[in-house]
Amino acid sequence: MSDGAVTSTDSAAARRDPGFCRFHTDHTAVVHWSSDHGWSDYSLEPYAPITMDPGTLVLHYGQSVFEGLKAFRQPDGSAALFRPADHAHRLARSARRLAMAEMPASLFLAACADLVRADDGWLPGEPGQGLYLRPLMIATESALGLRDSRRYRCTFLAYPADPCFGRAFAPISVLTSAGAVRAVRGGVGEAKCSGNYAASLLTRKQANARGYDEVLWLDGLEFRWVEELSGMNVFFVWRADDERHGVRLTTPPCQGTIMRGVTRDSVIALAGDLGIPVTEEPTPIDAVLSGARSGRLVEMFACGTAAVVVAVGRIADGDGDTVIGGGQEGAVTARVRHTLMEIQHGIRPDTHGWLRSVRKDRASVHSSTDRQ
Ligand SMILES: *Cc1c(COP(=O)(O)O)cnc(C)c1O
Repeated sequence: MSDGAVTSTDSAAARRDPGFCRFHTDHTAVVHWSSDHGWSDYSLEPYAPITMDPGTLVLHYGQSVFEGLKAFRQPDGSAALFRPADHAHRLARSARRLAMAEMPASLFLAACADLVRADDGWLPGEPGQGLYLRPLMIATESALGLRDSRRYRCTFLAYPADPCFGRAFAPISVLTSAGAVRAVRGGVGEAKCSGNYAASLLTRKQANARGYDEVLWLDGLEFRWVEELSGMNVFFVWRADDERHGVRLTTPPCQGTIMRGVTRDSVIALAGDLGIPVTEEPTPIDAVLSGARSGRLVEMFACGTAAVVVAVGRIADGDGDTVIGGGQEGAVTARVRHTLMEIQHGIRPDTHGWLRSVRKDRASVHSSTDRQ
């Protein structure tokens, strides 16, 4: 991942070599909520720092949720958002879990569209590149009592972006979490809340220091069941038992501790389109490691908005490294990735209705309606 500072520069330079969110764009869309007025004060503003009182609730009790979604350049030169309504609904679910106000999807969609329209000049167009949008919602009331806030602010930020592990999609390596816990059932693992990332950072830093790209989180009770990475869901490609040349795809089920990834959902749908059987099933880490060694597990990949789809070539646990599929990107991973990217870039028919066009000629905040 890129670790450069976020610095505003001219849009052409940022487009040429965006890295992953190294440069922010010129604008933000901002919307406020208060218990008195509900959602109000929507505006598209120049990008600027925010100031807050040191007693602001988000700083103390962590009411902070966010989203990550992308807009992609289309063959006709327009821009389109990928599954924005699904991201809107997930932000609302995350907010509900943290006792925060739920933003209507129509407002979320309008803000995203306005921002993409305003910062269209920042959107890079090479395959895999996009404009990464980060809606961030925080508690803004200053009050030190332990309770939910009566005021929230949602800021929509935009960044030109390469896939976070690069456009070459080189396979990544992962280290199992061994004793550290990201989420437990009944907790907030399924919410895209800032605290989840704070909870995962130390383990991730330790994995990085040992040369691994990411942490493969196991369940917090038995440390046996594979869950996901710190910001990506995982899929396994198994040689099917009954068919000589067939494969099947599995992914851990969403039972409250893993993110309901929009990319995960897209991969499940695309696998269906491609005729690859896919099931959501609990997967023990032992089966993954022994399967990789015996050749029954032929591929593993991770997926998320930031990375798109990236092969996992190596897993390490207490007993050392296990290579998957020769450490290379396998055929199924490549096929799923290409199919998804072609839909995102408008090259393949969008049969699922995932793209939402952002037209240049109209402002949407007062006119757009939620069609999904
Ligand atoms: C955001 C996220 C994902 C991926 O979700 P997408 O909707 O596909 O971007 C997966 N896991 C975690 C923990 C996440 O935060």
